[in-house]
Amino acid sequence: MAAPILIAGGGIGGLSAALGLARKGFAVLVLEKAARLGEIGAGIQLGPNAFACFDRLGIGAAAQRTAVYIEQLRLMDALTAEEITHIDLGYAFRARFGNPYAVVHRGDLHGVLLKACEEHPKVALRVSAEVVAYDQDGGSVTARLASGERVTGSALIGADGLWSSVRSQVVADGPPRVSGHTTYRSVIPTEEMPEDLRWNAATLWAGPKCHIVHYPLSGWKVFNLVVTTHNDAPEPVAGKPVSDEEVRRGFAHVHERAQKIIAHGRDWKLWVLCDRDPVATWVDGRVALLGDAAHPMLQYFAQGACMALEDAVCLADTIERHGGSVEAAFEDYQLRRVVRTARVQLQSRAIGDHVYHPAGAHALVRNEIMRAKTSQDFYDDLAWLYGGPGVEGAVA
Ligand SMILES: Cc1cc2nc3c(=O)[nH]c(=O)nc-3n(C[C@H](O)[C@H](O)[C@H](O)COP(=O)(O)OP(=O)(O)OC[C@H]3O[C@@H](n4cnc5c(N)ncnc54)[C@H](O)[C@@H]3O)c2cc1C
Repeated sequence: MAAPILIAGGGIGGLSAALGLARKGFAVLVLEKAARLGEIGAGIQLGPNAFACFDRLGIGAAAQRTAVYIEQLRLMDALTAEEITHIDLGYAFRARFGNPYAVVHRGDLHGVLLKACEEHPKVALRVSAEVVAYDQDGGSVTARLASGERVTGSALIGADGLWSSVRSQVVADGPPRVSGHTTYRSVIPTEEMPEDLRWNAATLWAGPKCHIVHYPLSGWKVFNLVVTTHNDAPEPVAGKPVSDEEVRRGFAHVHERAQKIIAHGRDWKLWVLCDRDPVATWVDGRVALLGDAAHPMLQYFAQGACMALEDAVCLADTIERHGGSVEAAFEDYQLRRVVRTARVQLQSRAIGDHVYHPAGAHALVRNEIMRAKTSQDFYDDLAWLYGGPGVEGAVA
C-alpha cells in the first residue's frame, strides 16, 4: 500500500485538502495538533468562489444548508451613520458569478468538512499530533511530531495555519507581521440586536481607525459582531476574553447608533491580527504549504478561508494531473496559486487602509468613489476574484 499524503493541520484548509485528495483516490493522514478537531470563532463570509470549491469537493449541498444568504454587502459611514453604498447579492450577482455570497458559522462549515472526511475511507485523522519538523529523502517525507514520534508519507502538506511549523522550514521567514489591528468578536441572540439593524446584509461601519461588522448567522438565530480598532497593538494575541469596557474604548468617537451595536455584544474575545508579505515559494521538494500557512492575510477581503479552499481544490487536481508525481505537481500548484493569493494578501491590506479605516479627507474620497459605483461596477471590479476564467485558471 502506498504511503499516505500527510497533512499537518485539520482546519478548513487541511480538511478540504484531505477531502479533495481522497476523492481523487489518494490516501491521506491528517495530523492535527489540538486534542479535538473543531473551529473557534463565529461567522465567516464566503464568496461565490468558495461555493464553487464546495461543489468540487462534493459537499455543495451540505455547505449551502449551513449558510445564510444575505441580500447585500452594505457600507456605512460610522461617523454619520449614513449608508455610503451597497452591493446587491441577489439574482444578478448569482447569475454573474454562478454561485451565491453567504455567511456561515465556522463550526458548521468545519463540521460539514469533518463529516465528509470521517466518512471517506481514504482519510485518516489523528489529533494531539503536532508536527514540529520534517525530513525528506527524495522518495518520501517524514514528519517529526512533538511527542518524538516520526510519521512517514509520500508528501507533506503544511496546512498548519498562521504559525505554521512547516513554513518555518520551507520558507524560514520568521514570525508573522503584527498589523497593530485589534479585533473583538462576539455572537449575540438575534433578539438582542437592535431591531432597526437586523438587516439581511453583511454590514460594515467604517470609521477613523476602526470598523464594525455584523451579519445574521445560523438560520438567523444569532448575529455575528466583529469590531476592529487600529490601536497599534504590539503583540499577537488569539482568542483572549476581554471586558465590554475594553471593547468600547476604541469606539468612543463613532456615531451613537454604531456605538449602540457594540453595547449589545457580550463575552468578547480579542485577536491581534497578523499577516505576512507574500512570497513566491511555498514548496520544498515533496512539501507544500496551503491556506494561512502559505499566504496569511488580514480579513478585510473576507477571503482567507476561500483561498484555502481554492488551494485545496487546485492541489488535488494538480496531483492527479501529474499522475502522482509529487514534486512536479507541487511546482505546478505553486505556479497556479502564488499570484492570485498574493494579490488577495496585498489587496486585503489596501482595503483596510482605504475603505475600512480612513479618516478626514481620505474618508471623504472613499465615500465619493464608493458612492459613484453601481452594483454592476462592483461586479466588474470583483470578477477576477469571484468567478469567470480567472478563477477557473487559478483553481483548475
Ligand atoms: C477576524 C477574522 C475574520 C475572518 N473572516 C473571514 C471571512 O469572512 N472569510 C474568509 O474566507 N476568511 C476569513 N478569515 C480567514 C480565515 O479564518 C482563515 O484564512 C482560515 O481559517 C485559514 O484556514 P487554515 O486551515 O489555513 O488555517 P487554520 O484555520 O489556522 O487551521 C490550522 C490548523 O492547524 C493546526 N495546527 C497548527 N499548528 C500545527 C502543527 N504544528 N501541527 C499540526 N497541526 C497544527 C491548528 O490547530 C488548526 O486546526 C478571517 C480571519 C480572522 C482572523
